[in-house]
Amino acid sequence: MSQIEKEEETQRKKAQITHQIALLREAIKQVSVTEWCYNEKSCEPDTWSRLGFCGGNRQSPLDINESAVVRNSSLGSFQFTGYDNATLLLSIKNLGHTVEVALDDGVSISGGGLNTEYSAIAFHFHWGNGTSSPGSEHRLSGKQFPMEMHIVHTINKLNLSESRKNSTGIAVLAFFINVAENTSFSSNLSTLSNLLQQVSTAGLLVPLNATISINSLLGQVDRTSYYRYLGSLTTPTCDEAVIWTVFKNPILVPASVGAPWRLQM
Ligand SMILES: [Zn+2]
Repeated sequence: MSQIEKEEETQRKKAQITHQIALLREAIKQVSVTEWCYNEKSCEPDTWSRLGFCGGNRQSPLDINESAVVRNSSLGSFQFTGYDNATLLLSIKNLGHTVEVALDDGVSISGGGLNTEYSAIAFHFHWGNGTSSPGSEHRLSGKQFPMEMHIVHTINKLNLSESRKNSTGIAVLAFFINVAENTSFSSNLSTLSNLLQQVSTAGLLVPLNATISINSLLGQVDRTSYYRYLGSLTTPTCDEAVIWTVFKNPILVPASVGAPWRLQM
């Protein structure tokens, strides 16, 4: 083998190794993002710090200590676009770790201390699903609620994988959901709860036939009282890209609304 041939051979081997390393890295990354769960010792939330950005220093959710909150009168009120439109909720789908409602174009928020308009892509729910501490993700001065709803908005109409690269790329509105008896209920959440049986396993989807608006789910919740902080996605890879708005007052529902969710997952 001539000197030139030897060098070519070395270069070819180097390129092969680089390629194999790249494949290996990709494989490790894919294993990592699927290696999380809520309920098993080996992959429960306490172990997530090894995944993506989950070990970072602006992680969500938080226990919001109300006595330590600083009032910011410059935040102002939100403008909600498309929240009253009953034709924009497309489908309800079981994603395995949550139940998500996909939204059509035309739902957005601005104001509320946001620098620009954010467009909604979907909303989903957290109800603990048998974790060691079932219920809402955020807490208020230690108090955990039975459920929590997250309406996910992105900047510049980007998809989630693009917007998560921006430290303020995602704006999530979080609403606690609480059970109350003997009140007049203004939320239409029971309409979604009644559909849960039809999406009882991961991957199942039911179209929503233009019957529900986001406003009808939120009911009479006061949308002028909220907590604001910069945090992260609450599932791996926990990207630190979220402007969180956690509303102080919960959506109130009768106990019958909560029951179908407990049976999920
Ligand atoms: Zn969420």
